[in-house]
Amino acid sequence: STTPRPLIAGNWKMNGLSVALDEARAVAAALEAKPPAARVAIFPPATLLHRLSQAVEGAHLLTGGQDCHGKSSGAHTGDVSAEMVADAGGSLVICGHSERRTDHGETSAQVAGKAEAAAAAGLEPIVCVGETLETREAGQAVSFVVSQVRDSLPTSLAGKAFSVAYEPLWAIGTGRTASVDNIVEMHAAIRAELVSRFCEQGRTVLILYGGSVKPENAREILAAPEVGGALVGGASLKAKDFLAIIQAL
Ligand code: PEP
Repeated sequence: STTPRPLIAGNWKMNGLSVALDEARAVAAALEAKPPAARVAIFPPATLLHRLSQAVEGAHLLTGGQDCHGKSSGAHTGDVSAEMVADAGGSLVICGHSERRTDHGETSAQVAGKAEAAAAAGLEPIVCVGETLETREAGQAVSFVVSQVRDSLPTSLAGKAFSVAYEPLWAIGTGRTASVDNIVEMHAAIRAELVSRFCEQGRTVLILYGGSVKPENAREILAAPEVGGALVGGASLKAKDFLAIIQAL
């Protein structure tokens, strides 16, 4: 299998009202003028997904959901299904972001169900994993994350497009980035797990890094071995910063 293009994903989290669509339009316009080396996607709040998808249709900019339910429809008040994300114009979906695991108690088994539903709906899931500072300080970061990868990826992803995002919790929204050594060690361990699980396909699945990626550190992180792109939170809200990260590739 061939190596896919890197992916730069911007997670707006619960930020951005309609006015934020202007930032996305600015990103789309800049990418139109200078097509990016990476695939680029924005993950807005669910309420903006349809409008954002329409606003950037045909541009070098993909859209996606921040979460989806594991079931395709039913009595799940407040939830959004993978089919709904696709219907709103999304082509990707983040599954198991640490804020979902923490705020909503999502387990890796549930995350696997979401990723399975996503792929069944034709979406490309980005499955997130990452350890707490406590786990890292106990020397268990690698074993913890590898077991999260194992438990959060359903076997049904074989042959489907998906990626894994390594996001150490202590680096998310803290301004503190993992060192390149930490990233390289973890991505190598995730790669080994992907290859043992998905054989040849596992060699080319993108492994994104996330956690305080910004214009100043993007180049070094994106150049590290086995880093297939970035999942960017805060710095994806401003077109100027997000573009600087995209252009760091
Ligand atoms: C994220 O939400 O996935 C993230 C990495 O956030 P930040 O870039 O703000 O640390």
